Amino acid sequence: MEHPGAASQVVDRLPQLVRARLDQGPRSVLVDTQQLLAVRARFDAEQSESLARYLEASQSPNTLRAYRSDWLAWSAWCAAEGRQALPADPLDVAVYLAAAADTRKPTGAPAFSPATLERKSAAIAAVHAANGLPSPTRSDVVRLTLRGIRRTRRTQPTRKRPVLLHTLEELLAGLPNPGWPTEPARRRDQLLLLVGFAGALRRSELAALTLDDVTVDTDLTTGEPLLLVHLASTKTDPTGIHEQRVALPRGQRPHTCPVCAFANWVALLEVNAANGSTALQHHLTPQSPTAAQPAAPQTSTATQPAAPQTSAAAQSAAPQPPTAAQPAGPQSSAASRSPSTTVHTCHAYQGTHLANGSAHPLFPAITKHGHLGTTPISGRAVAELVKRYAARAGLDPALFSGHSLRAGFATQAALGGASDREIMRQGRWSNPRTVHRYIRTANPLEDNAVTKLGL
Ligand SMILES: [Zn+2]
Repeated sequence: MEHPGAASQVVDRLPQLVRARLDQGPRSVLVDTQQLLAVRARFDAEQSESLARYLEASQSPNTLRAYRSDWLAWSAWCAAEGRQALPADPLDVAVYLAAAADTRKPTGAPAFSPATLERKSAAIAAVHAANGLPSPTRSDVVRLTLRGIRRTRRTQPTRKRPVLLHTLEELLAGLPNPGWPTEPARRRDQLLLLVGFAGALRRSELAALTLDDVTVDTDLTTGEPLLLVHLASTKTDPTGIHEQRVALPRGQRPHTCPVCAFANWVALLEVNAANGSTALQHHLTPQSPTAAQPAAPQTSTATQPAAPQTSAAAQSAAPQPPTAAQPAGPQSSAASRSPSTTVHTCHAYQGTHLANGSAHPLFPAITKHGHLGTTPISGRAVAELVKRYAARAGLDPALFSGHSLRAGFATQAALGGASDREIMRQGRWSNPRTVHRYIRTANPLEDNAVTKLGL
């Protein structure tokens, strides 16, 4: 689809013949006027008009509009490349379709689906047919190019968009509100997103983590706390030759600190393990006479809290109630239960008695009422969680998966100047080519001639 301004510029660059035909409207591009004249010579006016009407009706207005825009794009490309649009050389058409297939949106997704590329090819064929010319798209080179595009797209599913640091912050901005009943999901999801990203973990690895697998240690070079995550070696590396312990340093800010997120989450797990979800609710609810009243229905959405409108609502000038999630009453006590966003809590972490070999899941399922389950979240749920936060941040969830966190780590670390070897070590990658692929994903249009085609 061309942008109206861009389309008018494109029209200026069109050859005169094409311009004249387009000025007559989309139908005139596709209906062979010479052939209709021949029909008129042999049949009477009524018969030929009847035929013309049905020929014009053979394509829907939408198809005609799409063909017109496809033909404009093709003609503009030819003008820019010094090629002839009509009649076209089959090789030019094939090169054009291949370049269009490689064009990416800013998100990294292909700009055109195989079906759209086939329609572009059909548009070129239709205009040739309307002019009584043999179609260049019937040639082997065009047919094989389209077949190759279809096969490539089938065998390489859309590469998932990596979560870069700024994207991670956008995802974290969509965390549910503090306070009951959304605080458990808030703390779990924050830890999951941070550990998944900083540890370059697979979704299955995240889902399988238990409290026994995670410890807080001291970074001997800085004296700061760091998170040590042990991964069961058999899952990722049956040979056991690679390091299966991932170290996550303290974050610069509490909001992006994996150690703080872990300490804050463990505090809730301990309350829950000792006295159950009623105690957890009590712990997270302001201590006031109104504390016992049930939470308002619209807040009981741990799975989809304050959805996509969150950021828009937060930015709007409309005054908002202090915290819609909490019943009226003293806020200070609930606020003090929620971790500070300015002060690190990780230094005070003293370990947990829950890491006692009983394999408490690190990431249990949580109901929308804030109750913690005893079973771990599934790998699939990890992927859905990442997609949900992507959607909430206004990003296309189709481009995100559980793997985005792992891919994002490699890309972000490369942008931050990490060496291939360092990235491979943290991500436990053994093949440098995998890492290179993620790094390239960071900017698919860099050094790519396709940006100069003006498609
Ligand atoms: Zn911290």
